[in-house]
Amino acid sequence: MTRIGIGRLLVAFLACGVAYLPSSVATAEQPAQVPRGRWKQHSMVRPKPPVVVAQGIATPQPAPADAVVLFGGNALDQWVTDTGEPAAWTVGDGFFEVKPNAGAILTRESFGDVQLHLEWASPAPASGNGQDRGNSGVFLMGRYEIQILDTFQADTYADGQTGAVYGEAPPLFNASLPPGAWQTFDIVFRGPQFSTDGALLTPAFVTVLHNGVAVQNNERIPGPTSWLNTLSYQPHPREAPIRLQDHGQPVRFRNIWARRLPARSEPSAEQSRPPRTIAKTPAELAAFAGAFQLGDDATKPPVTMTVDGNGLIVRFPDRPVDMPIVPVSERVFEFVNTDATIEFETDASGKPGDATMHIGGSTRSLKRVK
Ligand code: MG
Repeated sequence: MTRIGIGRLLVAFLACGVAYLPSSVATAEQPAQVPRGRWKQHSMVRPKPPVVVAQGIATPQPAPADAVVLFGGNALDQWVTDTGEPAAWTVGDGFFEVKPNAGAILTRESFGDVQLHLEWASPAPASGNGQDRGNSGVFLMGRYEIQILDTFQADTYADGQTGAVYGEAPPLFNASLPPGAWQTFDIVFRGPQFSTDGALLTPAFVTVLHNGVAVQNNERIPGPTSWLNTLSYQPHPREAPIRLQDHGQPVRFRNIWARRLPARSEPSAEQSRPPRTIAKTPAELAAFAGAFQLGDDATKPPVTMTVDGNGLIVRFPDRPVDMPIVPVSERVFEFVNTDATIEFETDASGKPGDATMHIGGSTRSLKRVK
């Protein structure tokens, strides 16, 4: 083999599916054992996803106002090389394309949980076969690749098709469009979480729509993606740059934008505390029990309240679930599981009569009928 041939082979090897990582983390990854009952990586007998005839888009899909625009059509100023130099891929009229062997490019900003939209097109006319046909890829957090490949009427292993979690999870469908056609990826990604001592708490999950077709459905990502290798998670920060792969083929991109997704809020101890119930005797509770007309419609079956332990069970006619409420003051009962209360009126002798339910910032009248 000539020196050029060896060089090309080396470049192809390095570019093929392997997530280049900063040197600080690249050496930390170790091969993981493949569990029994799992498909061998890159299996050629693994079923191929069924083909779906999808629609392309004529014009770039507008970004929401809060999106980080990673490529708006003119410049690669949001992208850098592995060494932090300005990205040197080729910028055309409203698009950019992989400059073969220039190396991957990374976003300047880091992202963790993210909604990512990007549009891409396979080289036209098509050339090459298998994994050497319009190969690129989106590496979420620089580690987890969603494959880009020209798989329009072209064959390769299932876990290497467009929309695959590369080497792990084939796309559910092959929604590929012909070379040269603009295609869309809409990716919703949740990054892995690690404890402070580096143990994996939650793996990454990803949902991918390819040309509007769901090809990954909240798929669990078992670890960093790689060619000829199955890697286990190693701890990394909650955010990291998104990476586009240079696989030596001039795949085009346009209209790339990302939206960071917030974490779910956690209630304070006060906001999630159980009701501060007060004690009532069974006879006192029984005086609150009864049947009530909800609102003004007297034709509907009533709401019932029955004694149960130290509180009441509320049953709405159109709700099959028994809802417990407990007394928190002389005339007020609080729902155990819902931010709602029922406040009873009492007569001069203290006997409970009608009530008002406070729920969701509004009130509902409960007229006692029994
Ligand atoms: Mg790739």
